[in-house]
Amino acid sequence: MFENLSERLSGVFDRLTRQGALSEEDVKTALREVRVALLEADVSLPVARDFIKAVQDKATGQAVTKSVTPGQQVVKIVHDALVGVLKGDGDPGALKIDNPPAPILMVGLQGGGKTTTTAKLAKRLKEREGKRVLMASLDVNRPAAMEQLAILGVQIGVDTLPIVKGEDPVQIAKRAKTQAALGGYDVYMLDTAGRLSIDEELMEQVKAVRDVANPRETLLVVDGLTGQDAVHTAENFDARIGITGVVLTRMDGDGRGGAALSMRAVTGKPIRFVGLGEKMDALETFEPERIAGRILGMGDIVALVEKAQETIEAEQAEKMMKRMIKGQFSMNDLRMQLEQMLKMGGMQGMMGMMPGMGKMAKQVEEAGLDDKVIKRQIALIQSMTKKERANPALLQASRKKRIAAGAGLDVSELNKLLKMHRQMGDMMKKLGKMGKGGMLKQAMK
Ligand code: GDP
Repeated sequence: MFENLSERLSGVFDRLTRQGALSEEDVKTALREVRVALLEADVSLPVARDFIKAVQDKATGQAVTKSVTPGQQVVKIVHDALVGVLKGDGDPGALKIDNPPAPILMVGLQGGGKTTTTAKLAKRLKEREGKRVLMASLDVNRPAAMEQLAILGVQIGVDTLPIVKGEDPVQIAKRAKTQAALGGYDVYMLDTAGRLSIDEELMEQVKAVRDVANPRETLLVVDGLTGQDAVHTAENFDARIGITGVVLTRMDGDGRGGAALSMRAVTGKPIRFVGLGEKMDALETFEPERIAGRILGMGDIVALVEKAQETIEAEQAEKMMKRMIKGQFSMNDLRMQLEQMLKMGGMQGMMGMMPGMGKMAKQVEEAGLDDKVIKRQIALIQSMTKKERANPALLQASRKKRIAAGAGLDVSELNKLLKMHRQMGDMMKKLGKMGKGGMLKQAMK
């Protein structure tokens, strides 16, 4: 699936990722190619345009993460944007079938894979959720279709509603409902008739069935290889019948994957399952992460960038240390520092990570600076005014009282904090003044 699109995109990104530094122009050129690749995969124009814009905005605004190339970072941004386009609200595989017997209406054009998917889904519900399922074919114009479902039913061990000649689809739907209730089934699935194209009669028939069955889920089955046609079909069925989701079939073929990308954005309806072959097991829930991975074919780069982004927090701490060396160390800095420490496993953890700071880590440990203390210190800083935070020298007795009371703590705690702030500032300055060869400066490079 998606092989063509995948190939095109990897070409673009291969070129990108080989470069060390990347200009805005490079990103633009690359994204222009991505846009062409998307359109060739039959992604609709507005969707492709929005997609590119989202990626461009993000790529341009984003700080370059260390240890990955900008190109690799763009791959990750494209990946995340793909996931965003593909993602629905909830778990795609979670069907609303809690009130037995729950009706599921299967709709779609002829040849899209509706009957096959009905049986695949029934098998899935039976095997994975232990549901008792009843299937019924409503395709009165094509006896072969009704027999096909019966044969599949036997094959997968799922009951089908006995075929009664001369009934219309609404009568069959009513009988299925009664049978499902009497027979103690959890779910009954109505495989409606399809047409080669959408026509009034088909829609009226499906509507009548819908009104009788009152389905919890109405799944549209469409051939994923038909690209934008699949999307138009979905729009049409949704407008007339109201669908709760889409099943894209034939996603095992190596055709254009555009339907998957446009479906959610154009119709607002989630893709719930994908058909990946003719066999009864060839049905998967639609996983945006996995599909995006398949489209891009660059899972290793995505993982790499994710890893690198985790270290960004550490880099922020580093920046602050640089400012501290210069003697620019306000209460706000201290607070950020304290918050960072909490995140990074306490002060000892952080000091331990920095070369030459082992001694300080020991002092910190001796001073009993555990998380609880750190949280109290943060509370104290929070109850200072902006001015006070910028210039702690302002803090005389009355202000101290107010701040301590604001944090619900003793003035003595505030004094300890102020002392620590002073000491840290002094120490940093001293370390910074040790010159070019200074340990800390060396470490901060
Ligand atoms: P219906 O007319 O919509 O009910 O379509 P069918 O269920 O009869 O399917 C038409 C053909 O498509 C059959 O030969 C199926 O085996 C095949 N088919 C259905 N789903 C898939 C799929 O996901 N992948 C592939 N390769 N073939 C499929």
